[in-house]
Amino acid sequence: MRRLFMAFLFLLTGFAASSQQSIQRPKLMVGIIVDQMRWDYLYRFYDRYASNGGFKRMLNQGFTCENTLIPFAPTVTACGHSSIYSGTVPAISGITGNYWWDREQQRTVYCTEDKSVNTVGSSSAAGKQSPKNMLVTTICDELRLATNFKSKVIGVAIKDRGGILTAGHSANAAYWYDNSVGNWISSTYYMTELPKWVKDFNNQKLVDKYYQQGWNLLYPASTYINSTTDEKSYEAKALGDNKFPYDSLKKYIGKDYGKITTTPMGNTLTLEFAKSAVVAEQLGADNITDFLAVSFSSPDYIGHSYGPNSIETEDGFLRLDKELGNLLDFLDSKVGKGQYTVFLSADHGVAHTPEFMLENKLPGGRVYMNTVMSNFNKTLAEKYGIKNIIVADDNYQLHLNHPSLDSAKVDKEEVIDWLVKKLYAEPGIDRAFAMENLNEVPLPATIRKMLNNGYYPRRNGEIQVILKPGYIDAWSNTGTTHGLWNPYDTHIPLLWYGWGIKQGKTNRETYMTDIAPTIAALLHIQMPSGSVGTVIPELLK
Ligand code: ZN
Ligand code: ZN
Repeated sequence: MRRLFMAFLFLLTGFAASSQQSIQRPKLMVGIIVDQMRWDYLYRFYDRYASNGGFKRMLNQGFTCENTLIPFAPTVTACGHSSIYSGTVPAISGITGNYWWDREQQRTVYCTEDKSVNTVGSSSAAGKQSPKNMLVTTICDELRLATNFKSKVIGVAIKDRGGILTAGHSANAAYWYDNSVGNWISSTYYMTELPKWVKDFNNQKLVDKYYQQGWNLLYPASTYINSTTDEKSYEAKALGDNKFPYDSLKKYIGKDYGKITTTPMGNTLTLEFAKSAVVAEQLGADNITDFLAVSFSSPDYIGHSYGPNSIETEDGFLRLDKELGNLLDFLDSKVGKGQYTVFLSADHGVAHTPEFMLENKLPGGRVYMNTVMSNFNKTLAEKYGIKNIIVADDNYQLHLNHPSLDSAKVDKEEVIDWLVKKLYAEPGIDRAFAMENLNEVPLPATIRKMLNNGYYPRRNGEIQVILKPGYIDAWSNTGTTHGLWNPYDTHIPLLWYGWGIKQGKTNRETYMTDIAPTIAALLHIQMPSGSVGTVIPELLK
């Protein structure tokens, strides 16, 4: 009897020991990317953020990496999203832009295009997408591998690339928004039919409801003292006008479901869809860690149209703060306080609108690269008798028409030398050089490193262009953009909150590529297959 009792005790303590030794993980990882968020928005609007909102809660109860930088150029959406989740750079992931010129196919390729799959959820072509152009795994793929595919992974974003490049190759699903119908869709890469909960969500016709509501300021107009006055001539009229109130959105019901993206209701729609995914797919319901990858695309559309110093941007972020608070409250009640981990970052920042800079005696301006290129092409056509010698100017790089130049036996070096000289003469262009000379031309080490990190030979051009600080590659005379090496494009927020996260901050320089390896350390899983980042140990308990 005594022996039996001892054996029982031994078993019990054995169980206790083994349960202590089992891997501790949160029930749910939530990744939040704000599409276009400068780090300084955390503090420019700090006093205006709600005490129960998302930003103050994450800043004060979680961990903030105050100096997180993007270590590559171009700083655009596809590159940022894939880098955050794969811990690597375009030179390794192959995601060298939202679009790039493909040398073998001699055409422009979209980052997530996939002609072998079809749309699920609408009859448009918007769902012909997959992660197949991305050459590496994401942290979500690694979580799936670590749990023998028992972890559930779902990507959600209005922009297709925001949900696809994050959730990864082995995701259970990625969903994005189809402008042509105002619904969430997916592709046959993931499924053959939308789940019932997605159909039910779409049937609510929330966009019609949001259009009815319109977009008015959250607080009295006089309180928006951190922003330029409304209705500036350099703001784009994305919603038919460039001043509040935008209460006439009803006219878009049934006609233009794309307009929602340039309003904060685009974030509301994303938030509500993400919450429905958590409930319906039971994310975080058991002890096998799931991953919800959410990207809020609307700040980018708003920012491009109105600029970082606009009332529209301020109002957009005050509202996003509330949505984030709502999401954290929801996760507390559904998954449990302390049972989930959230990180928040951005895929890139943005430059101030050039005319805003100029009216405040600050350096900046517009370079109409598209016009510059077509003028060069005209001159080159007269010189060599070949049309379209420059076939693309994607991602601040010029791509030459190799087949035409080869068959006409034109010396490419001569064309490149001519172009480099001409580019230097353009006001607003700081530097231009042949990509093959990247490691020889005099260039600050930081910029050289960033360009090397962005260079994947099959998907990059022959000539690199760098604009002067404050200058943008413009398509019109309103709005602004991002894409280069400068701090306003590359300095992003990085906040951590919840299970396994210390309270605190670091001012040490950290990088976008450190996010995925840090999650790998937190979850005790392998780093993604192309990861070059390093763990940020300060934030781990
Ligand atoms: Zn973006
Ligand atoms: Zn953008």
